Amino acid sequence: MRAIVIRAHGGAEVLRPESLAEPEVGAGEVRVAVTHVGLNHLDVWVRRGVAGHDFHLPRVPGSDVAGVVDGAPVVLHPSWGCGACRACLDGNQNRCRDFQIRGESADGGCAERVVVPRWQVLPVPNGMSAAEAASLPLSLLTAWHMLVARARLQRGERVLVQAGAGGVGVMAIQVARMFGCEVHATASTPEKRAHLEALGATPWPYERIGARNMDVVVETVGVDTWASSMAALRWGGRLVCCGSTSGFEVPLNLRALFFKQIDILGSTMGTSADMLRAWDAVMAGHIRPVVHEVLPMSRLGEAHALLESRSAVGKVVVEQDLDHG
Ligand SMILES: [Zn+2]
Repeated sequence: MRAIVIRAHGGAEVLRPESLAEPEVGAGEVRVAVTHVGLNHLDVWVRRGVAGHDFHLPRVPGSDVAGVVDGAPVVLHPSWGCGACRACLDGNQNRCRDFQIRGESADGGCAERVVVPRWQVLPVPNGMSAAEAASLPLSLLTAWHMLVARARLQRGERVLVQAGAGGVGVMAIQVARMFGCEVHATASTPEKRAHLEALGATPWPYERIGARNMDVVVETVGVDTWASSMAALRWGGRLVCCGSTSGFEVPLNLRALFFKQIDILGSTMGTSADMLRAWDAVMAGHIRPVVHEVLPMSRLGEAHALLESRSAVGKVVVEQDLDHG
């Protein structure tokens, strides 16, 4: 079968189609005919490489996979633990030292077919397209774990989502709205801010966020927004961070930290139970997919460039065409 394989880190030129052996189906596993893959910033890190981190190339990229099993549309859990360690047995798969993310530490979905354990298969709600379904799991899981598990969101709280138009941002806005919170979100352009308003958030340009008395701030940007995120918190507020697309070394004013009694919470992906609960919210119609553009999988490099341009509102998705030659 055909697949995109990354053999060395670099630019779009390292995303090359190759012929790979057909994956074998073992006990408890199913073969998924891949139709769509949703992109995340993680895809860009896997392609570019990250100093001090070994991605164990070669790697087939693609974390968020939609496809067909036995004629039924499905999407896949994007991550899993070893299943045997203390963290996994406690239900904290994302703290497992052998935690795996599809397309990052295990081969991903930019292929004609993938084989996965049957438990990783999730249904697609009626009326949702495969491209929309592929846009959801990783960013929804990330937002859900940040807000529900880490920040322990309470009904009626004030939440600021930095980079609200990003993949995690559009999910965080909707999860917070679902929990009855007052949601504010930042974005760089009037077009993006109009989208955030449609999702139920009060939109702000980055430079207009000052002391906003927020209970919770969702931080995915890092260097560029850190100071405004800290300033926006109320005394006793929580800042929850799952990423740092603009850089990860930030200044920390300890006087502000202890006087304002701020909790800074780190968050990565989520647990298998978080994914199931978040997917219940999708099946119940509480979460709306936000797809910016769908491109052919053979043009994955262009899809990466679109993601890196930060011009997209929501997700960039690629559609299966590797089987066309
Ligand atoms: Zn484990």
